[in-house]
Amino acid sequence: MNDLQIRIKNRIKLAQRILVTSHIRPDGDAIGSSLALGLALLDIGKQVQVVLSDGLPASYRHLPGSGMIQTRADGQFDLIVCVDCSDLKRVGRALNGYHSPDIVIDHHATTEAFGELNMIDPLAAATASVLTRFMSKWGLTVTAPIAANLLTGLVTDTLGFRTSNTTPEVMRQAADLIELGADMTRLYYLSLVRRTFSATKYWGTGLSNLERADGIIWTTLTLVDRKISGYTGNDDADLISVISSIDEADIAIIFVEQNKHSTKVSWRALKPNIDVSQIACQFGGGGHKAAAGAELTGNLDEVRERVLEATHKALQLPI
Ligand code: 5GP
Ligand code: MN
Repeated sequence: MNDLQIRIKNRIKLAQRILVTSHIRPDGDAIGSSLALGLALLDIGKQVQVVLSDGLPASYRHLPGSGMIQTRADGQFDLIVCVDCSDLKRVGRALNGYHSPDIVIDHHATTEAFGELNMIDPLAAATASVLTRFMSKWGLTVTAPIAANLLTGLVTDTLGFRTSNTTPEVMRQAADLIELGADMTRLYYLSLVRRTFSATKYWGTGLSNLERADGIIWTTLTLVDRKISGYTGNDDADLISVISSIDEADIAIIFVEQNKHSTKVSWRALKPNIDVSQIACQFGGGGHKAAAGAELTGNLDEVRERVLEATHKALQLPI
């Protein structure tokens, strides 16, 4: 074991009250990784709080341990662990009033080492993959409920084992997690296939507003669209994955209105040699080469204009 693994193991061993947190608008990897770690720490007798600023989306209620997710931390902690989160801002309000993370476990290329100990592997397909690799080295055991959470992280971040970072290691990890009791067919269906009526209506609005110019396709989801469809999340309901399958462009973008002064932007590279994380970084965001996001101050129209201009410029640069 290298020095970092030994130090992480010792910090876990010495701590009694542990806070596990992840990013706002949590996805399957954020939730699955937080719950996997939270459950494993409970199993070795720690007091654990799993805190996600935006709470648990209804679509992940089936995950073992999901009832332990809270939106505010309560009390004092001697260890704070942040998973699947590329910077402190993305934690949202979960750490308000608390010290910055002692341990950061992540896989984003743009992650700042904002913890005291940083286990960041930008080549890993998911934070759940980093956890699957190291949990036993840190004195933690992967039981069936933990395996279900880890497999959900792998399945969702690889979009069902089809992103380019789906390595043989990821497939072996998935096989091991299935052997440990995770029901892949069910978890895959619940996290990637099942849709609600309202999310599908919301997609419909986004799809009918689809635009295209100069190698960029984009669409917009407003607060009114959200209200009319009945969709309760504050994200794009993963419409970006649908429009990313259009290969007649280089980059796909979705603009999701958060309020009058803030807009969430998601980019996806539709060709292998395009790096959208560099564009997201220009706006204070980040992510991966092929998938990145940012939350921008400004109303929908002005954000869209700025982002389309910058994306257009980035495409004109030699790649
Ligand atoms: P999405 O567009 O689906 O929200 O996110 C795509 C990728 O970009 C994910 O890896 C996500 O963690 C990252 N990402 C999304 N929004 C932000 C952001 O505001 N800041 C940073 N640093 N990364 C983001
Ligand atoms: Mn992730």
